[in-house]
Amino acid sequence: MTKPVVIVGASMGGLRAAEALRRFGYLGPITAIGDEPYAPYNRPPLSKDVLKGEVSHEAVAFPQRPATADVNWVLGTRVASADVANSTVTDDTGLVHPFSALIVATGLRPKRLQVTNGDLAGRHAVRTLDDAIALRAELVPGANVVILGAGFIGCEVAATARLLGCSVTVVAPGSHPINRPLGRMLAAEIKRRHEAQGVKFRMKTTVEDLLGEDRVAGVILDSGEVLPCDVFIEAIGSHTNTEWLEGNDLDLVDGVLTDGALRAVHNNGSVAENVFAIGDVARFANPIFDDVPRRVEHWNIPTDSAKRVGQVLAAQLAGENTNALLAEAFAPIPSFWSDQYDIHLLAFGLLGLADEIKLLHGEIEGDCVFGYYRESKMVGVAGIGMRSTVQGYRSEFKLEG
Ligand SMILES: Cc1cc2nc3c(=O)[nH]c(=O)nc-3n(C[C@H](O)[C@H](O)[C@H](O)COP(=O)(O)OP(=O)(O)OC[C@H]3O[C@@H](n4cnc5c(N)ncnc54)[C@H](O)[C@@H]3O)c2cc1C
Repeated sequence: MTKPVVIVGASMGGLRAAEALRRFGYLGPITAIGDEPYAPYNRPPLSKDVLKGEVSHEAVAFPQRPATADVNWVLGTRVASADVANSTVTDDTGLVHPFSALIVATGLRPKRLQVTNGDLAGRHAVRTLDDAIALRAELVPGANVVILGAGFIGCEVAATARLLGCSVTVVAPGSHPINRPLGRMLAAEIKRRHEAQGVKFRMKTTVEDLLGEDRVAGVILDSGEVLPCDVFIEAIGSHTNTEWLEGNDLDLVDGVLTDGALRAVHNNGSVAENVFAIGDVARFANPIFDDVPRRVEHWNIPTDSAKRVGQVLAAQLAGENTNALLAEAFAPIPSFWSDQYDIHLLAFGLLGLADEIKLLHGEIEGDCVFGYYRESKMVGVAGIGMRSTVQGYRSEFKLEG
């Protein structure tokens, strides 16, 4: 019997990989193993619209297309290890799944704060649907919410919690929320808009410990200040889910290092020809910008990388000569958005690479567009409102030559 393509991680990347394999003509078996109990769903609404209302799988589930109706979804099952040399993965029930090719789509999990008095109810992170369901139940009007971390997720949850009538304080070590990648001017404006909505900030500080017996009741800052707290939300970055791949001599320094066809790379630089990585967990170079491999945690990357893998792998499994395909560049345009109150932010490129940021259109207090430049070349564009103007800059991000 033909061995299946095994996809580990049954989320957006996993779903898009299955769809792409079918689109590029692969008709063989596909098994997708995911540790969450749910069919693939969309994460961005978990900190935005959906968190304001009733959080349910129905509200965020991706539609399943007929082409992938025969995918064997093994849900609620964690893959514990992989044996790349023998082309198998083993799940946490001990079941061994042989594969013809492995697609790694295991994404990220939130970092958690390590404190002495940490074993308390009322602590939250926002990555999964279950996280959002648990958090939503506690975001009641008047609750004292403290959010540690002022990146996109921290700020989005702050806005949502305010709209739900909570009292919100954001604590973060940086000088401004989302300072990186947006830059000081835009970050200061976003802070101002949050403050106008009643959010309080404690910047350049962090949380030293928590107060409470069974449940969090307060937060002790390293400045010595104590904040009352009923709900403590940690939005302090992520770990890559790659531990299960250890022991295969793959480069897992920060996610799975891949070549331009998203094939995993060994520590000695050789390529594992039947192991691919996609989405948040993949670290790849994007020749639009340079040859430095990076992970990009944006919504378009699972889809773009899955498409590339689907095309290469379908050809490879059909026994076709893939030399020309493998030589093609993988050069997706990173894109992301963020919604906070009436701030609708849209961006393209890698803003964090910039050494110069310029206001290109509009007024900072209203709708505006900023350009991000490295050595005078545009590497990013971001706007509040003015969507079509921002979109107009997409053509700046293309391969040279
Ligand atoms: C709250 C939130 C808001 C966001 N908002 C935006 C936004 O506004 N704009 C934007 O561009 N991007 C946003 N993102 C980022 C975007 O959602 C991610 O880029 C995208 O979800 C990545 O998809 P993925 O399939 O690579 O990984 P994930 O979605 O993380 O999926 C990985 C899956 O693999 C599972 N898994 C992990 N380890 C194992 C294992 N060993 N065995 C089995 N299964 C495993 C995980 O549980 C998970 O289900 C947001 C993310 C979050 C969490």
